[in-house]
Amino acid sequence: MNGYIHSFESFGTKDGPGIRFVFFLQGCPLRCLYCHNPDTWNMKDNTYEMAPQEAFAEVVKVKNFVKGGVTVSGGEPLLQPDFILELFRLCKQEGMHTAIDTSGYIFNDKVKTVLDQTDLVLLDVKHINPKKYEELTTRPLEPTLRFIEYLAEINKPVWVRYVLVPGYSNDEQDLNDWARYISGFSNVERVDILPFHQMGIHKWEKMEKDYKLKEVQPPTNEEIKQAEEIFKNHGLPV
Ligand code: SF4
Repeated sequence: MNGYIHSFESFGTKDGPGIRFVFFLQGCPLRCLYCHNPDTWNMKDNTYEMAPQEAFAEVVKVKNFVKGGVTVSGGEPLLQPDFILELFRLCKQEGMHTAIDTSGYIFNDKVKTVLDQTDLVLLDVKHINPKKYEELTTRPLEPTLRFIEYLAEINKPVWVRYVLVPGYSNDEQDLNDWARYISGFSNVERVDILPFHQMGIHKWEKMEKDYKLKEVQPPTNEEIKQAEEIFKNHGLPV
C-alpha cells in the first residue's frame, strides 16, 4: 500500500481550510485540456514511493505549523485509496482535519471507506454539459455527478471548484445550468472559481505533448465577475 507521490507541500493555503500539509499523488485517469500538472498523469513517473507511515512522519515534522490539517490532491488521489485510508487513519488518531481534492471520477466501495475518514471534499465539477465535459477532460461527466450525489446522501461537507476557461467553460447558459445543479446540494459549503492560467504550458512542452490551449487567454476580471454573479444569483456561496 505504498503511495506514489508526485510531491508534497508543507504550507499549503489553497487546498482546504487553514495552513495545510498537501500531498500531490501521482496518477490520473482524466486528460484535461488545461491540466497544469500533466507530469502527474502516469502513476509511476518521477515519484516518491512512500508508506503511509513515512508520509505521516513528514506531516509530524511540521505539525505545529500545519494547524489546518492534511489534504491529498493530485493527479487523482482516489486512484490510491489504500494509501489515503491509512494516512488519514493516522491523521485522525492525532485529531487532524482531512481533505481530498478530487474530480470525483472514481467511485467504489473502497472510496466510500476513504470518505468515512475524510472531513472535507474539494470536488472539481469541470462542466455541466456532458458533451463539453468529455471534450474538456476526455472522460464522461456521469461518474462525477454520481459522486456528488453520494456526498449529499452522507451529508459530507463539500467545496466545489470550477475552472473558468474562456471559450470552453464560460458560456452563460452552461454557467447557469451548472449553478442550478450545484445549488440543489445543501452540503456544498463553498464554491471557488479558478481562473484558467497558462502556468503549466512548459510541462506540456517538456513532455512533448500537444497542448491545445496555447492561444487561450486567462479570463478577464470582468469575465470572472460575471461568472461569480451567475453563481451568486443561484444562491451559491462563491
Ligand atoms: S483531473 Fe487534474 S490532474 Fe487530472 S488531468 Fe484534470 S487537471 Fe490534470
